[in-house]
Amino acid sequence: MVNSQSTSIAAAKVDEKRLTDLFLELAKINGPSTKEQLVADYLIKALPELGFTLEFDDAHKNFDGEVGNLIAWREGTDSSIPPLFFSTHMDTVLPTEGLKPVIKDGVIHSDGTTILGADDRAALASYLEAVRAVIESGVPHGPIEFVLTVNEQPGLVGARYMDYTKVKSEAGYIFDSSGDVGQIILKGPYSSRIWMEVEGNAAHIALNAEEGNSAFLIAAKGLLNMNLGEIDEETLANIGILKGGELTSIIPGSVTVAGEVRSFSKEKLDKQLKQMEEAMQEAASASGGKVNVKIEKKYSGFDIPTDHVLTTTVKAASHNIDVKPYTTETLGGADTNVLNENGLTCITLGNGFQNIHSFRECISVDNLVNTGRLTAGLIEQWYEAHKQAK
Ligand SMILES: [Zn+2]
Repeated sequence: MVNSQSTSIAAAKVDEKRLTDLFLELAKINGPSTKEQLVADYLIKALPELGFTLEFDDAHKNFDGEVGNLIAWREGTDSSIPPLFFSTHMDTVLPTEGLKPVIKDGVIHSDGTTILGADDRAALASYLEAVRAVIESGVPHGPIEFVLTVNEQPGLVGARYMDYTKVKSEAGYIFDSSGDVGQIILKGPYSSRIWMEVEGNAAHIALNAEEGNSAFLIAAKGLLNMNLGEIDEETLANIGILKGGELTSIIPGSVTVAGEVRSFSKEKLDKQLKQMEEAMQEAASASGGKVNVKIEKKYSGFDIPTDHVLTTTVKAASHNIDVKPYTTETLGGADTNVLNENGLTCITLGNGFQNIHSFRECISVDNLVNTGRLTAGLIEQWYEAHKQAK
C-alpha cells in the first residue's frame, strides 16, 4: 500500500484497486509492434468517456502496421494554460496473448510464459487513471494531450513517421524507464549507425588463389585499429554485425561490417564515427582493397535544463506525493529522443518496471500507483506553475 501523505488533491484520488485492475486489463490486450489495433480499439472507447477527442495519423502506412499514432486531446478547465502532453507507446515487444498475471508480495508478474507488458501498459493505465482522478478531484487544470505511438520497440519507428502537425502541446512527459518513480531523465544520446562494405577480391583457393584478397582479413585489421567499447564517459561504440562469405573454398571478396555509436555530444559522436571509418579505410588501402562507408542517423540527443519548467514541475509534483525526485541521464534511446528532435520538449520519467523484454518482467504495485499519482500531480502542478506565471 502506498502511503498517501499527498498534498496533491488530484493524486489523492488515484485509486490503487481501480488502477491495478485497469493495468491488468490493458496488459492482456495483445498489441505487439505494428499490430496495435486492439489497443487502439480499447482507447477509441475509453478516451471519449474521459472527455478526449481522438485523431490517428497515417504513420503505419510507412511500415505496414495496423494503425497509426493516436493523438488525443482534452480541454482543460482553464484554456489559457499551455497544454501538457503525456506520451507512451501502444506496442509491446512480444505478444501478451494468454497473459496470466500473478500478484505476489506487492509485485505484478506474468506466470512466466509471456512478458507482462508493463513496458509500457503501466504508463498507459496510469495516464487514464490519473485523468479520472483529476476529474473526480475537481482541481483546475489546463488542456491534456496524449501522444500514443505505435511500433516503438523495433527502433522508435512510429514516432519517426508521426504527423507532428496533429500535436498541439509543446511540452510533456514520457513515463518509460526502469527507475523507481521519482527518476527524471534529462539527457539522452545522439546515435548513428555505421555500415562498412569492405571489398577485397574473391578467388578459389585451388584455382586462382593468387588473385584473391580476403575481405575478412582487411576487416580484421581494420577492427583491431578501431576504438570500441566505452570511448569516454559519454560515448559508446560497438560493432554488432559481420556478414559475408559463401563457401569454405572461396577467399571472400566482400564483407559487411556494421555497428553504432552513441554519445551525449554530437561532436564526439562524429569524431568517433570518423575514427571507425578511417581505421577501416587505412586497413583497406594498405591491403589493396576498398571500403564504402554509409552513416545512418538513428536519433538526436536531448538535454533539458534543470531550471526548465518541465523539470521544476516534476520535482515539485514528486514532493507533493511524498516521492523523492532524482535526475539521471541515459545512453539508451527512447521516443523522447525523436519527439524532442521534432520540436516537442519532453523528458523521460521512471515508472519502475523491471526485466523488460523478458518473461521475468514485473512491476511493483507501489511503482504503478505512484506513476498514476505522479501523473495526476503533474497535471495539477503544471496548472499551478503557469497560473503563478500569469
Ligand atoms: Zn518502453
